[in-house]
Amino acid sequence: MLQENEWIVEPEKKVPVIKTTDLIICGGGPAGICAAIAAARSGVRVLLIERYGFVGGMATTGLVNPIYGFGYFEEGKQIIRGIPEDIVQELLKMEGGTLGHRRRSECKACSSIEECPTNGISSLLCFDPEAFKYVAIKMLEDAGVDLLLHSLIVEVSMQDDTITGIIIENKSGRSCILAKIVIDATGDGDVAALAGNPYEFGRPQDGAVQPNSVILRIGNVMRNEDRIAPDQIFPDPQNRIALPSVFLFRLPGKGEYIVNYDCGIYDANPLKAEDLTRVQVKAVKEAGTVIEALRKYSPGCRDTYLLSTAVHVGIRESRRIIGDYVLTKDDVVSARKFDDGVAKVAFPIDIHNPTGSVDEKNPMVGPKCGDYYEIPYRSLVPQKIDNLLVAGRCISGTHEAHGSYRLMGPCMTIGQAAGTAAALSIEEKVSPRKIDTKLLRKTLIKEGVLI
Ligand SMILES: Cc1cc2nc3c(=O)[nH]c(=O)nc-3n(C[C@H](O)[C@H](O)[C@H](O)COP(=O)(O)OP(=O)(O)OC[C@H]3O[C@@H](n4cnc5c(N)ncnc54)[C@H](O)[C@@H]3O)c2cc1C
Repeated sequence: MLQENEWIVEPEKKVPVIKTTDLIICGGGPAGICAAIAAARSGVRVLLIERYGFVGGMATTGLVNPIYGFGYFEEGKQIIRGIPEDIVQELLKMEGGTLGHRRRSECKACSSIEECPTNGISSLLCFDPEAFKYVAIKMLEDAGVDLLLHSLIVEVSMQDDTITGIIIENKSGRSCILAKIVIDATGDGDVAALAGNPYEFGRPQDGAVQPNSVILRIGNVMRNEDRIAPDQIFPDPQNRIALPSVFLFRLPGKGEYIVNYDCGIYDANPLKAEDLTRVQVKAVKEAGTVIEALRKYSPGCRDTYLLSTAVHVGIRESRRIIGDYVLTKDDVVSARKFDDGVAKVAFPIDIHNPTGSVDEKNPMVGPKCGDYYEIPYRSLVPQKIDNLLVAGRCISGTHEAHGSYRLMGPCMTIGQAAGTAAALSIEEKVSPRKIDTKLLRKTLIKEGVLI
């Protein structure tokens, strides 16, 4: 009789090929959405595959808010436009879609760039997650992207170092879709890993990743700040002890906020369903306690109530796919620019303590205020696979560098770059590694990207 820890062998079976297209985008998060729109606008046939019944990734399933990365210190100065800004403009057209680009309140205290301690986090964009779902779907459809929702990518078919098809599982069973080029925007780098590209996981000394959090959405809060830090939530330090790292971020809906708090599980591997279950169960069980603490001790929260808990545990970090260039902390801090730069990032390295230990501090460092670094295209090109690009938080960078570009603003711009590059590669009939990066940059600039 079979025992735990033994293996079974699945019977071999045929998998139907259900579709052929030019480009498959795997994952419909901030990066995948922008990649798909960019490529479809360039005229190639694009299919976006997403495991949930809607798109948005962490912006919707994770309730993550606000979008960071659009700008920096100087008033009105944006470093991200292009498709991410098109999304903002569509959100602005909706009642309660977004409050628009805002400057983080701390920055008001600074009278000069030299004094500013929070380079790049000076701008934030609060948005309604449901509005984001709607806008993203509408823009994908308007661009002509084919969508396949409710489908989990589980395997790839390969010929040497080329992906020939993406194998999915859904209620119809297992099937295969063929494409010339694939973009892995799964956040976790699932496709690149399935294809056998090397990757890194966690920090070098112990493999620990940034902790996962389950975000809550609450209503009836009588406050109006965009971002409320722990000392402003619980003015009495005594009451802060139970929830030391809680932040509130304002949503456009009247009295609505999201609660970003650390539920205290630091050893969860985001690639293990058992660990994700542990975090999600604890957070859902604890939501009542969080609401109670807010009601009792937080000014303006006396009558607040829970609207929802995130559908999916918020994953800050998992696989980082090794590409032709590995972006480093030094690149971030020294504000390095590259000949093949495809996205600007000003956000500092923001590493939530992977072990939760109080004596382990990660001070935020980044490019000098008013400056930015660039993401080189080579960080989107996986080292070993010929027809694959990666986009979003799983691109090639170290644990430290990832702490900066993992934000949604940069991930969206990286997505646009990947989609545009894939379209060029299809038009020119060359592998993504061989495209003319000068032409890529020129095309991105023409499409409104600020590089
Ligand atoms: C708790 C928390 C707080 C954060 N705070 C902020 C913040 O304040 N501001 C900010 O800008 N950023 C913040 N971030 C970071 C940001 O949300 C993410 O890094 C960003 O969303 C990454 O975008 P992505 O498109 O690369 O991946 P994701 O958003 O993770 O999207 C990946 C998509 O791929 C899909 N997918 C994954 N695997 C498969 C598969 N096998 N088959 C089919 N579909 C698949 C997923 O369902 C998802 O839709 C936070 C993150 C967390 C977790």
